[in-house]
Amino acid sequence: MTWTPTRDDFNTYMLPNYNPQAIIPVRGDGSRLWDQDGREFVDFAGGIAVNALGHAHPALVDALKTQGEQLWHLSNVYANEPALRLAKTLVEATFADKAFFCNSGGEANEAALKLARRYAHDHHGKQKDKIVSFRQSFHGRTWFTVSVGGQPKYTEGFGPIPGGIVHGQYNDLDSARELVDENTCAIIVEPMQGEGGVTPATPEFLEGLRALADAHNALLIFDEVQCGVGRTGHLYGYMHYGVTPDILTSAKALGGGFPIGAMLTTEHVAEVFVVGTHGSTYGGNPLACAVGYAAVSTINTPEVLDGVAERHALFRKHLEAIDAKYDCFAEIRGLGLLMGAEFNARFGEAGRDTLAAGIDEGVMLLVAGPGVLRFAPSLIIPEADIDEGMARLERAIARVAESVG
Ligand SMILES: *Cc1c(COP(=O)(O)O)cnc(C)c1O
Repeated sequence: MTWTPTRDDFNTYMLPNYNPQAIIPVRGDGSRLWDQDGREFVDFAGGIAVNALGHAHPALVDALKTQGEQLWHLSNVYANEPALRLAKTLVEATFADKAFFCNSGGEANEAALKLARRYAHDHHGKQKDKIVSFRQSFHGRTWFTVSVGGQPKYTEGFGPIPGGIVHGQYNDLDSARELVDENTCAIIVEPMQGEGGVTPATPEFLEGLRALADAHNALLIFDEVQCGVGRTGHLYGYMHYGVTPDILTSAKALGGGFPIGAMLTTEHVAEVFVVGTHGSTYGGNPLACAVGYAAVSTINTPEVLDGVAERHALFRKHLEAIDAKYDCFAEIRGLGLLMGAEFNARFGEAGRDTLAAGIDEGVMLLVAGPGVLRFAPSLIIPEADIDEGMARLERAIARVAESVG
């Protein structure tokens, strides 16, 4: 007899570091999901900006099945074809000359920060170890990346924080100017802050950081784990801004749902990672890279990228109509299909209740912090699914509006 788990079993068997919603989804197709009881949901969350081609996209399923029957894992003692294919694709499509693969966004940033420190150490001396980051930023949950991240609640109670890390104000160039000096090895920034509330950088901010990094021989790292791989309507967010980093990190949508991370950089910077400097057992394994290759090849096409702006406009139109009716949002912002609708003071913390109300109405939603409703759907979500999901969201908002009075 097979055992069917329930939501209550989460509390029994798993660490309490998450608090999942009441339902358990079991199947997905495109931008729709079904739970254990066969109830159907429209997916506006995309697994937190991961399922960029929706669920069970034929190209990804085919890549997984085909590679799954051939070769899953080798270790980096051997090169493998899928990793080389994906590396070539990313190098040819971006500023980068070299790619390093790992398994998550946190690991990609860990590699980027280590690379920047090592580069400064080898070229300028060991005193050049200062990392400039920004408040509200999010770079992962490893001890180094969470310390570099700009949300102190995530480092609380875990012991001594690694040194040489300072935080400025996002989108405030003067604040960055005060921090960057000759001992700065890296400036790390999300071109659009995701977890921190869906805040796009101003073009002047990123241009200014580029100039600051150049003036002080520091490397500019763009964390594109959330805003990369098509989200902005460009393959990477830096292309939208026309500001090129020295190191770029990618994950989330890179595997379309299969775990993979990547760090991209120039030949000159890459040179300081010699044999043995850094590594990962699973990083760049054939299975992940085959799916990643299918995802990037499918996303980096005019068919997919050009559809992002239209969908953005449709999301915005619906959100504005909901706001006009229920007076719920202070601001609607974001680029492409990473959008945030910040609740106004009247809704305040109650905005978070929209998530559970959404589940009752049949739409999967996300927040970014307590006050911002975040949208990170499939880049190819059909118009009909946007319309239906928005009708359900409207009913969820109506219920929360009633509760706030
Ligand atoms: C999600 C995220 C990370 C961490 O990625 P994981 O795969 O969870 O380690 C890092 N940076 C940004 C900008 C993210 O959104």
